Amino acid sequence: MEYVGGAYSYALPGRAGARGELARPFDQRLFFAGEATQRHDFSTAHGAYQSGTRAAEEATAALTRSQAR
Ligand SMILES: Cc1cc2nc3c(=O)[nH]c(=O)nc-3n(C[C@H](O)[C@H](O)[C@H](O)COP(=O)(O)OP(=O)(O)OC[C@H]3O[C@@H](n4cnc5c(N)ncnc54)[C@H](O)[C@@H]3O)c2cc1C
Repeated sequence: MEYVGGAYSYALPGRAGARGELARPFDQRLFFAGEATQRHDFSTAHGAYQSGTRAAEEATAALTRSQAR
């Protein structure tokens, strides 16, 4: 991969819903970001950015819920 400086995802035809699976948190402790997790604006820099803010908000909400218990 010497000449490859990056990549982005694409979904197989009919499998775009898999992006939602990739984005799903694990056990409310592990949160996933990255352009491949976006239902919209995937394969782009702004999609990657949006996924980061979404994952951060999910983590913050999970922390808030756990502290309220
Ligand atoms: C040639 C090319 C042109 C593009 N042009 C555009 C464009 O014009 N406009 C646009 O919006 N988008 C463009 N994109 C897409 C955009 O660059 C990507 O969608 C975006 O960078 C994805 O961001 P990301 O954070 O999801 O992943 P990445 O930017 O791939 O970040 C993932 C990071 O994780 C690191 N990593 C991987 N494995 C591990 C590990 N095991 N441990 C620790 N770190 C690890 C990697 O080193 C990398 O730094 C282009 C992409 C390519 C390849």
